[in-house]
Amino acid sequence: MAVNSGWQPPTNAGKFFATLAALVIVSWGYMTIPSGCESTSPTRSRTALPGSPLEKKSDGSSVVAAGTASATTDNVEKPKTPPPQERPFPPTDQPNIRVRVAAVRGEPVQLTHPTGWLWLKGENAQAGRTFRAPIAVYPVDDGWRIVEANGTTQASNFRLKESGALQVEAPKNSRGEIQFGGSAYLGTANIVRRTDIDANASDLVFIVPLEEYLPGVLAKELFKGWQVNTYQAQAIAARSYAACEMEWWRKRRHYDVVAGQASQAWVGATSDAKSLDAVASTRGQYLVFDGRVVPAYYSSSCGGLPASAVDSIRDGTWTQIAPLNVTEKGRRTQCCEKSPAAKWQATFSIAETVDRMNDWSKQAGRKDLGPMNGIKSFVVGDRNSLGRSMTFFITDRNGKKFTWDTGDFRAAMNAGAESSRDSLKSSALEPRMDNGRLILDGRGYGHGAGMCQYGAEFMAKSGKSARSILERYYPGATIVTMPETSSSSVTSAALVSSPKP
Ligand SMILES: [Zn+2]
Repeated sequence: MAVNSGWQPPTNAGKFFATLAALVIVSWGYMTIPSGCESTSPTRSRTALPGSPLEKKSDGSSVVAAGTASATTDNVEKPKTPPPQERPFPPTDQPNIRVRVAAVRGEPVQLTHPTGWLWLKGENAQAGRTFRAPIAVYPVDDGWRIVEANGTTQASNFRLKESGALQVEAPKNSRGEIQFGGSAYLGTANIVRRTDIDANASDLVFIVPLEEYLPGVLAKELFKGWQVNTYQAQAIAARSYAACEMEWWRKRRHYDVVAGQASQAWVGATSDAKSLDAVASTRGQYLVFDGRVVPAYYSSSCGGLPASAVDSIRDGTWTQIAPLNVTEKGRRTQCCEKSPAAKWQATFSIAETVDRMNDWSKQAGRKDLGPMNGIKSFVVGDRNSLGRSMTFFITDRNGKKFTWDTGDFRAAMNAGAESSRDSLKSSALEPRMDNGRLILDGRGYGHGAGMCQYGAEFMAKSGKSARSILERYYPGATIVTMPETSSSSVTSAALVSSPKP
């Protein structure tokens, strides 16, 4: 019983318990799990909160958790510590990244493992124990309720008094990964209660060594037939982006990235050789500017009209750097003009447009953006140096004038969209009104800052190296390779000078 001190099986589970005590050996130490588990203060008013300079502006697509129908947009949370002023140095030891795989709302977190067992421990408990998989985990008032052998005739309930997260690991020395929603995920899992959202809400966060996380990003971000050099450039960009997210969120939130469009896609475990090789062959390589890591944003295609990160992501010291500014001339004709989303058109009725814009501005608390009464005129206001639309000037039927950031407009239209056909791929838009309709000629797919994935593939196909690709899309940045060391005595100064460009 000693190892099970925190667990309270219900009285009728005594015989299961006896069986388990015989079967189960629970004596390995648990891995260090970065905590940062933050909790529970209500943070409903998102618009009032400072955001990460790394966080992409919303494109209106919700962060849909893999394997669950739940969706959430609550990825901005109130910081408990001030944000770091500086971008991080490239890490010398391999960090663990905390990836939120699912925001599970109103249903249990269900996990399983090929061995039929999972090891669970309360964050503050002295010891953990093994359960028969699959398990279903429910947050309850004073802790967690776990159903083991969930969905079988042998299902039984346990309760754990625990104020913190529930940590889940694969059985020691076992093969195979923890499975959720039909996918296999690397690393260990934390189930974090989200009482700030709902009594039945929890987040499923996997803690994964960075180099093991990255292949699952590439496998989902790029097409299988794409060039090795594109994969390598993407590996370095994704690693650098992740390192910056980790720096920003480390003490502020219980996860660093989501597995989805709001951060970068992640399939979890992958056997895709090209992805694994690209990460291995660029291991420890970061994109650096002024000695610190560049938050290497990237998007699907810029449509020949790239944006700077300050414009399309967020303004701040992290993004006000040369590699993330738009300086390149002539990119229009030498980037992604052959991509499927290079040019596209979307049409909405004026009534539908006004509805979506009014809904969004109301929900965002943006009184400067609405409500509008119809639309009298809708034109491009500001453009960036390459001609990408940055704002719209809109006059409603009452003659009231509004200035909309094109990114906000895209977010508003996509928040009201019922399908991807009904949404906007990017904010590079040329609007015109015609007979009660708004016609939008669009270019590209995504925020358009940093590397253009289709443009990178175009370069790789014409023989360009990963380095050439990154030099083009992050001008002024260099690639450094960090030797891995567990020494904690390395000083910041050494970190800057030791890497070779
Ligand atoms: Zn492009």
